[in-house]
Amino acid sequence: MPIDKSGDFWKSPDAADIFPFLKDLAREEGTIPINQYRAATCTCGSNRFRLTGDDEEGCARRDCAQCKTSHFICDSGDYWGEAEPAKLICHGCAGDIFNAGAGFSLEKGKGPDVQWVTIGQRCVRCGILGSFTDWKISYSPSSHLIDQV
Ligand SMILES: [Zn+2]
Ligand SMILES: [Zn+2]
Repeated sequence: MPIDKSGDFWKSPDAADIFPFLKDLAREEGTIPINQYRAATCTCGSNRFRLTGDDEEGCARRDCAQCKTSHFICDSGDYWGEAEPAKLICHGCAGDIFNAGAGFSLEKGKGPDVQWVTIGQRCVRCGILGSFTDWKISYSPSSHLIDQV
């Protein structure tokens, strides 16, 4: 299913389009390419979350819409105390439940270490795709972050 780019926001009916959306976004903005993506899935199997984060500090937490389990995405818990997290609300429909995942910009060669984490989300009600926060990783090793979405 192609991503609908005709409106003010990009939309898709499919959570699997978050990754191509993030790749396109990085290309359009001329930022570091995103090489890998992991979709967020709760331990209960759900892929619907309320999202909270700080787009300046760069951190995000997902709270399962089904079982309420909270999970800090990647290393977000380490920075939560210095952040001013706010709950994400859809710009299009004011919904607050999203599919979510993280794109990773990997260093070539060694490791491979993660250089940048970019969160992507899709509103489950109206399909709007977005990236509400991203942050730089400046330590090594960091490849374990890929398994902490
Ligand atoms: Zn759950
Ligand atoms: Zn929406």
